[in-house]
Formats: sequence, C-alpha cells, structure tokens
Amino acid sequence: MAEDKQHQLSPTSWNRFEECPRKYWLSKQGLPRKAGMAASLGTAIHNSVEDLCNLDLDGRDDEEVGWLPEAVKEAMDRNWEAERAVFMATPRHPRWKEDRLPKARVGLAGALSILMSRTNAAERSLPKVSVGVWRQVQQRVLATESNLVSDCGRLTGRLDLLLSEPDEQGKERWIVADLKTGNPPESSLDEKVDRQLRLYRDILKQSKPEHPPVQAEGWYSADQSVHRTDGPPILDAAIEAWGLMTPTEDPPAATPSEAACAFCDWKAWCPSWWVARMEGEIIPHGSFSDEVVRLVRLEAETGAALFERTPPVGVDGELSGSQHRFGALLADSALDSIREIAESGNDGPLFLGSAMVSSSTMRLGHWSEVMPWSPLLRSLR
Ligand code: SF4
Repeated sequence: MAEDKQHQLSPTSWNRFEECPRKYWLSKQGLPRKAGMAASLGTAIHNSVEDLCNLDLDGRDDEEVGWLPEAVKEAMDRNWEAERAVFMATPRHPRWKEDRLPKARVGLAGALSILMSRTNAAERSLPKVSVGVWRQVQQRVLATESNLVSDCGRLTGRLDLLLSEPDEQGKERWIVADLKTGNPPESSLDEKVDRQLRLYRDILKQSKPEHPPVQAEGWYSADQSVHRTDGPPILDAAIEAWGLMTPTEDPPAATPSEAACAFCDWKAWCPSWWVARMEGEIIPHGSFSDEVVRLVRLEAETGAALFERTPPVGVDGELSGSQHRFGALLADSALDSIREIAESGNDGPLFLGSAMVSSSTMRLGHWSEVMPWSPLLRSLR
C-alpha cells in the first residue's frame, strides 16, 4: 500500500480498531462519508462553546450584564448554519432535522453551565453574567480545540478544553475536559470515553513536561454531570495499538457484534456482518433493520418494490438467491437512489440500510440508504 506518511492513532481510530479492525480499515479507504444529525448537533455545541470561550470582550465594561444570552444565541445560530452546510455537502446524508435546533440550544446551555460551575463563576444565570465574570471564566480556559501530538508523532488527539483551577490546597491543577453531548453514563465512564480521556491526558503531560497535576473529565451536557477518570497511564498501550493499526493491503479480520455493527457506516462494503446476521450471531432489534437483496421488481412511480433476500456464500461477499421475498415501499431519497441505480443498468445486489420494519410492509425513506452491495477485499489506497 502506498502510504505517503506515517499513520497516526487518534482516540476515534483506536476505538474503531478495538470495536472491529475491519471497521477501522474500511474507514481509511476514502469511501463516501456519511453524515448524522447527532454528530452535527454535537459539533455545533462544541464550536459554540469554543467561540464563547474566545469571544473578544475588548473595550467592554466589566459591569455590563444582559449581553450573554444574545452572544450564546448568535454563536449557536452561526455554528448551526455552518453544520447544516457541511451536512448537506456530505455525500451520504439523511434529511437535515431543523427541529433539533432547540435541543442544540439546550445542550449548549448545559455545557456552559458545567463550564461556569467548574470555573467557579460568581454568577451562573446567563442574563446576569457580567462581562467581568465572563472574563474570569475565559482566564481559566487555557486552550480550546487544541491539537495534541505525542513526541514520536504517532499519537494524536484534539482536546476540547484545558482549564486551570486551584486544587483543595490552592495549588494549580489542569483539567482536560471532553464535552459529551450524548447520553451520560449510568455509573462509570464508558470504556471508549475512558480510553479517549486518558490518551488526551497523557499526551498533554508528555508534551508539557512542566505541567501541574492533570485531571481528565468527561462533561455531559445532557444532565450537566462530570465524570472523571483516574485510570493508569495509557501511552504504552496506545503505541502497541498503533503498531497493530499499520495500513495493510488486505483487510484485517472483522469482529462483528451487535454493538460494533449497529452504527457502522461501512456495511455496504463489509461482507462479515451479513454472514454473522444470517448465522444468528447478530439479531436485529427495534424498528430498523439492514438487508442485502436483489431487486425483483420496482414500480418507479409509486416506490413499491419487491426484493429477494440474498444470503451469503462464504465470507467474501458472494451471495446466493433464496425463496425469501418481501415487498417494500420506498420514498424520498431512498426512492431516488434505487431509481438511479436501476436507470444506470446496475442490476447487482443491493444493501438496504435502516429499513423500517415496524409495520407489515417494510418502508425506506429519507432515513434509509439504498446502495450497491460492494464488498471491499483489497485496499483502495
Ligand atoms: S459492519 Fe460490523 S463487522 Fe463489518 S466492519 Fe462494520 S463493525 Fe466490522
């Protein structure tokens, strides 16, 4: 494989690799990216917090109040629009959900509430926060969205916030904070978040040898809870994983599981989940399911389709026919996709992603994907 530069391990790529090495390998193949509403909402909140931490307050009176709610609104409106543009420009995207904006505003308020609490702001009600109080918050923020790279260049990360705070004895300590906009943990931190926080913490400590004590925390905007990790040093394990993640021509073995495959973006290129599904190792739950099928008939006007399930033969993506036929109703982008595929003359097998199976007729719409089944068994890079 032609690699221009040494690969790097980030918390995201490491977590992917731990979930399923094939998922990591596929993520490096330059396949069409997929956008998701939850990720866009999270990015809009992150970028708004960053903007507010770096807000230029030059020339403003310390006593001024009533300005922060408007600044918060402006930051979110700006970042929401920017995220919408990125989302719509991403090759694979469902429908943009404008009605999630209020949820993003609530998430931002939750994140700011944690920030003000962790920086001991004298006033935490947004309309009453003075310019002087916000200046003090800003002074405690040492860095936002900061790139971290280990001494060897192999490990990398981007930390959300680095804060300075006095410990119980009044001595300085640093807080490495990662803002989370998903569900808070019920008890201890999720293994993936714990690994991510420790990696940020330890790369930071390595790159700033004169650092005071450093504490790593996950901040959950949904309930404003703060979860700290005190796990052991992690750089040696990360370097070991980096070695295992060296790019290869052939794909590494997949480790399909319900957790790893549920939100995997590369199912259309991965034969392994379909084998696991047909062998009963993965059981679809809930209202949505994925399928690999042959299109038997399509009424292009109405979106009524008849599919035949195509079970795997072996583990490399080959398929066979079956007696299992089912009807489905397609609409919106799912219908556009299948029409496009049919018009292109491609009559090969199809991957149906997120088909709604809660009613007697399967439905595919703006939330679904219809793509050619394209098992990838050789690196494209
Ligand atoms: S679909 Fe499942 S088995 Fe395939 S790459 Fe994704 S996580 Fe791995």
